[in-house]
Amino acid sequence: MTVDAQKETRGFQTEAKQLLHLMIHSLYSNKEIFLRELISNASDAADKLRFEAVSNGDLYEGDSDLKIRISFDKDAKTLTISDNGIGMTRAEVIENLGTIAKSGTAQFMQKLSGDQKKDAQLIGQFGVGFYSAFIVADKVVVTSRRAGTAAAEGVRWECDGDAEFSVETVEKAQRGMTVELHLKDDALEFADNWRLRTIIKKYSDHIAIPVVMLKPIPAGEDAPEVPEDEVINTATALWTRSRSEVTDDEYNEFYKHISHDYSEPVSWSHNRVEGSLDYTSLLYLPSRAPYDLYNRDATRGLKLYVQRTFIMDDAEQFLPLYLRFMKGVVDSNDLSLNVSREILQKDPNIDSMRGALTKRVLDMLAKLAANEPEKYQSFWNEFGQVIKEGPAEDFANREKIAKLLRFSSTHTDKADQDQSLEAYVARMQEGQEKIYYIAAENINTAKSSPHLEVFRKKGIEVLLLVDRVDEWLMSHLAEFDGKSFQDVGKGELDLGKLDSEEEKQAQEKVAEQLKPLLDRVKTVLTEQVAEVRITHRLTDSPACVVVAEHDMGAQMRRILESAGQKVPDSKPIFELNPEHPLVKKLEQESSETRFVDLAHILFDQANLAEGAQLQDPAAYVQRLNKLLLELSH
Ligand code: ADP
Repeated sequence: MTVDAQKETRGFQTEAKQLLHLMIHSLYSNKEIFLRELISNASDAADKLRFEAVSNGDLYEGDSDLKIRISFDKDAKTLTISDNGIGMTRAEVIENLGTIAKSGTAQFMQKLSGDQKKDAQLIGQFGVGFYSAFIVADKVVVTSRRAGTAAAEGVRWECDGDAEFSVETVEKAQRGMTVELHLKDDALEFADNWRLRTIIKKYSDHIAIPVVMLKPIPAGEDAPEVPEDEVINTATALWTRSRSEVTDDEYNEFYKHISHDYSEPVSWSHNRVEGSLDYTSLLYLPSRAPYDLYNRDATRGLKLYVQRTFIMDDAEQFLPLYLRFMKGVVDSNDLSLNVSREILQKDPNIDSMRGALTKRVLDMLAKLAANEPEKYQSFWNEFGQVIKEGPAEDFANREKIAKLLRFSSTHTDKADQDQSLEAYVARMQEGQEKIYYIAAENINTAKSSPHLEVFRKKGIEVLLLVDRVDEWLMSHLAEFDGKSFQDVGKGELDLGKLDSEEEKQAQEKVAEQLKPLLDRVKTVLTEQVAEVRITHRLTDSPACVVVAEHDMGAQMRRILESAGQKVPDSKPIFELNPEHPLVKKLEQESSETRFVDLAHILFDQANLAEGAQLQDPAAYVQRLNKLLLELSH
């Protein structure tokens, strides 16, 4: 006996153990899904064999009739799922069934909430399909052999759901994998012909290869000499069938098969394209974001088939990054079976498919927004941040993406991002030429910003941008529906036709009169500010700070600085409200020290109102206390 053939016992990784435990204890409310998971794995294994056999036909070992066979033994309390797919070597078995060392396991474990229902969904998303066997079995025996290896190179893996598993090399005539489940006493219902058929029909009808069971012998008939198999499922690739033939349930189950997501998709789009390019696509919009949506290394992309043969998972060339949450299948009739990722990257045909698929997804989303606004809103809450990457990445579709965006707004009291740009434009006032927005750290800072005062007074709506990506997004959206965007915290306030001629003249006159005050304040704050001017954007506050028109926005600056990035120095503009009693007091202040103190305090307060940090908080407190003491004298 070679060393390799020896039986060895190994321990699961800690995280694998925890997951296994969770699996067994949190999924028992829907036990039957284990069968779907195992059939799904068997189907993937058949796909992989077909793919490898394209370049090496020997792998079929003379048997290219791929199928999945289900059998049970009531007395022995076993249920067996067997496939003649690609199979695994001993090393692969240890790797695939012995560790759950997938990247992000730790991150995943942190996400678990203790709420059984939610956790069960997460587990599905994480894709621990095989381990679901332990929902119904207290012992699982796997025998497997990699296609193209000798019969003596089979492997037997055994585990009783505890901390350890064993592996040994065994003879196995048929390639592929056999999973033998030793059913728990409370899972004996699965050793039943009718029950199994119902489950297979329900979850696995879409599987492209036959799922077979022993044909039952009608009462009164003799058993045939060779037992007959009966095919339970439809056994054609779902996307090759015509839309009218496929039920919603089948679409839903197929989604779960390809996505490892337990929840149902929001919608799908199934299309056959003929012409210069010939392909079928089936695209799904998931209802929930995967836990690793923002992980740069996370897998994404569609499942690629060429003429019904599986080629690869996660073919990311077919959709842009900002649509990375989409799941689905592309089956091309033009690509070569030998196509690789490198070839996909260079093929101009892929670019045009990508263009068409992108358009399809954007249309799907637009349709959802128009027809089912509530569903669209929950889509937005899950994936809106990713869609916001769109205008920067996909210049050509900027208009379409802009229509999909949703923001918080002064139009509603809610913090929800639920207002579209179209709705904003429809509500614009007569004479309003721009779409106004404010960028702030959070919704409360945004709402209480002094910059909104004049807009409130005049009843003009302002969008409240509080996501980190927002200012960056805005820098890629020059306009919408012919209207440019204006950050209300930037540049000179210009309400265009919203201010009357008289108002403008009156404002100029006041600015003229207060020139000496402005110069005086500028001298005091010369280190801190670029300019001091009169403003009409304030009603209640005495002063505010504004960023120069072409400088970086305050919110963006804070984000970059907190990320440790160097940003170019720029001083804000300090604006005073001529109507405010404090400003009037400042103008009349005869004591130079008190003037200096008050000017500093007003400037510091204006910064605080923006959610900014003061450069010298202690000096602010001292000045303020000094004034307070004077008051009490
Ligand atoms: P997932 O399917 O999400 O990768 P599983 O735990 O279900 O996770 O399976 C782990 C791995 O074991 C699979 O990725 C595959 O490589 C291998 N595997 C599982 N079932 C089979 C099978 N029937 N034939 C060949 N390999 C399999």
